[in-house]
Amino acid sequence: MACSICQNLEHDYQVCVREINSILQRRFRSGGEKLRELFRWQDRRDRAVQALYAHRKTHDISPQDRLKTA
Ligand SMILES: [Zn+2]
Repeated sequence: MACSICQNLEHDYQVCVREINSILQRRFRSGGEKLRELFRWQDRRDRAVQALYAHRKTHDISPQDRLKTA
């Protein structure tokens, strides 16, 4: 079951993947410009994945552990 934070992070990731795919299909004035755009979105995608993984770990806390930290 996904919480709203999971949904937001997954949405960010999907946006980045879509953008990367469109850059790959798009024509740029120069190859360097295309690579710069590609790296920018790949970096953003990687950060979205890391944020999603880090957030999902918080769901792995067992009810007992949650009581201890509360
Ligand atoms: Zn979540």
